[in-house]
Amino acid sequence: MKILALNCGSSSVKYQLYDKSSNKLLAKGSLERIGFVGTFIIHQTKHQKHRLECECSNHKDAINMVFKFLTDEEFGVIKELNEIDAVGHRIVHGGELFSKSVLIDDNVIKAIDNLSSLAPLHNPPNLQGILAMQSLLPNVAQVAVFDTAFHQTMPETAYMYAIPLKWYEKYGVRKYGFHGTSHLYVSRCAAALLHKDIKETNFISLHIGNGVSVTACKGGKSIDTSMGFTPLDGAIMGTRSGSLDPAVPLFMIDKEGFSSEEINTILNKRSGVLGITGRYTDRRDIARVAEEGDKYCQLSMDMEAYRLKKLIGEYHAVLGKIDGIIFTAGVGENSPVARSMVCKGLEHFGIILDDEKNNKAKEESIISKDDSPVKIFMIPTNEEIVIIEDVAAILSGTFDNDDFKYSFEV
Ligand code: ADP
Repeated sequence: MKILALNCGSSSVKYQLYDKSSNKLLAKGSLERIGFVGTFIIHQTKHQKHRLECECSNHKDAINMVFKFLTDEEFGVIKELNEIDAVGHRIVHGGELFSKSVLIDDNVIKAIDNLSSLAPLHNPPNLQGILAMQSLLPNVAQVAVFDTAFHQTMPETAYMYAIPLKWYEKYGVRKYGFHGTSHLYVSRCAAALLHKDIKETNFISLHIGNGVSVTACKGGKSIDTSMGFTPLDGAIMGTRSGSLDPAVPLFMIDKEGFSSEEINTILNKRSGVLGITGRYTDRRDIARVAEEGDKYCQLSMDMEAYRLKKLIGEYHAVLGKIDGIIFTAGVGENSPVARSMVCKGLEHFGIILDDEKNNKAKEESIISKDDSPVKIFMIPTNEEIVIIEDVAAILSGTFDNDDFKYSFEV
């Protein structure tokens, strides 16, 4: 069974084609700058990587271009498009309607459209991808996999905000949480590494990339997470502020006369480590320049680690006893320095990092001391495999079984 995972952003389409029968990735790539000058595609197969300029004015053109590459005589990995058995779409916002992946029908399409007011930058292009795919491959099953779904198990006490109840009732203002597929993936992998049933585990997972979120997972379910109504809340990120006193934007509107759109742009695109350092979002640059003595790069690293440490403390309190903390995504997977800064000082919680294992970790591994009561994991995330396996399980009718397990947990 061949399954295509698709992630349609406002000006990009990312894709992966999997052969589920052999559990092999056949090809992956991304097409960027859709609708702009200089559109290009990067297409990768097991042995080759190609970058080519192309022209695409919309998502349908872009998906057609992806199909061309997948079936191309030279770079292709399939002969005919009808070899694709199903498509899984990454959808950012599923609101309170979707707590699991679902087969897409007209009602699901309407619901994703209605949820656009909660994710105006993400759901509309996600939907365009679904519609384009429906018109290009009308007889192929399509599945929606939501970033928010994993967090729908949070209790009311965690997801409600202390604001007028009407805002929730009328507009759905509450915490939703994001990066759900990533937290699901790494928590289940960690349980497998411990040879424990996921239902018996408590983990704190830290997804530290450009976007950053921390989740408390109890028995494989999210019970709290640091991102909120939008992905702006919580930890300090590449360009997003994370949590701050809600009076700050109001004060700045008063002082500088910003519009709500300007404030939105500043908090989402010009804050975070970029705001503090004034120059960098890439944590490799920040670490290098901090090493050279730059005060604000050092401050930004210290602040990021400090905020993550506080989130670990919060979720430790919420979970009670914990089995492990998990580092994933660009920084979490690749920066021993960042992991070490976060763990430093948490020894009295039983979180004891092994410096040698931490420095060496290249693939999924336990990087805590052998006698550390709480294990520390480095696990490269794999959101696509969750999409592929959800699609396969939905099509085979096994997804709703209570004992459904992903291949990476057995
Ligand atoms: P996203 O998917 O949210 O765009 P990623 O998970 O790819 O982000 O993470 C991107 C971040 O990971 C960048 O800030 C980059 O600097 C950081 N990163 C990648 N490799 C390293 C490394 N070796 N050391 C420190 N940071 C790294």
